[in-house]
Amino acid sequence: MPKIEPGYFLLNELFFSIQGEGASLGQPAIFIRLHLCNLKCSWCDTKYTWDPNDPAFNNYKQLTPSEIVSQISVYPCQRLVITGGEPLLYSRQIESLLELLPPEWQIEIETNGTLPATPFIRERCQLNISPKLPSAHNRAKTIRPKILGQLALGSNAWFKFVIADEADYTAMEQIIEAADLPRDRIIVMPEGQTVEALREHGLAIVERVKVSGYRLLPRLHVLMYGNKRGI
Ligand code: SF4
Repeated sequence: MPKIEPGYFLLNELFFSIQGEGASLGQPAIFIRLHLCNLKCSWCDTKYTWDPNDPAFNNYKQLTPSEIVSQISVYPCQRLVITGGEPLLYSRQIESLLELLPPEWQIEIETNGTLPATPFIRERCQLNISPKLPSAHNRAKTIRPKILGQLALGSNAWFKFVIADEADYTAMEQIIEAADLPRDRIIVMPEGQTVEALREHGLAIVERVKVSGYRLLPRLHVLMYGNKRGI
């Protein structure tokens, strides 16, 4: 398994696209996808970032924060989405990156909600926190209410739950209660890597969402491109 060296990111992908999920759905954004994850979700659509059995697992580069800044600065966009894998495995490197980027940059971090974020990251970034529910079939512990509560202290923290079935919806409500998450920051997203699956899972939960105070959002990139990488 590759090692994360101090001062370096392991970069899996870098591309310019549209934010396909969450609170800033539809915003143009540059994505950096970091290598490695501390979970193993069964439906993960980026297994190439953490699964050594995936044929694309070894396609990553080691880059410094300033090298990342050089690469993202060529795009006509000042919104950066740091995704993975699990980006908070790189908290120190992300802090260095934040120090290099001018304040007008909007920065989002996609995290699975199992690792803490530093106060600087919580204040500077939009956190898109996606706790993993039963259908993700992880052996590791995926729900850490204390860490979720700490992440919720961020000035721009959103909780995004990917729902595949009734058991997921029930588990989501238990987590919201246990971690006392802000209900106006809950985004419910049907699981699916095809339009048909998104529709089926969305229709299965829409009536419950209507009376919950949560938001129901699709995965825009799946609707537009299907299950393709780097777009
Ligand atoms: S936390 Fe995200 S990147 Fe990691 S295995 Fe789960 S879905 Fe994949």
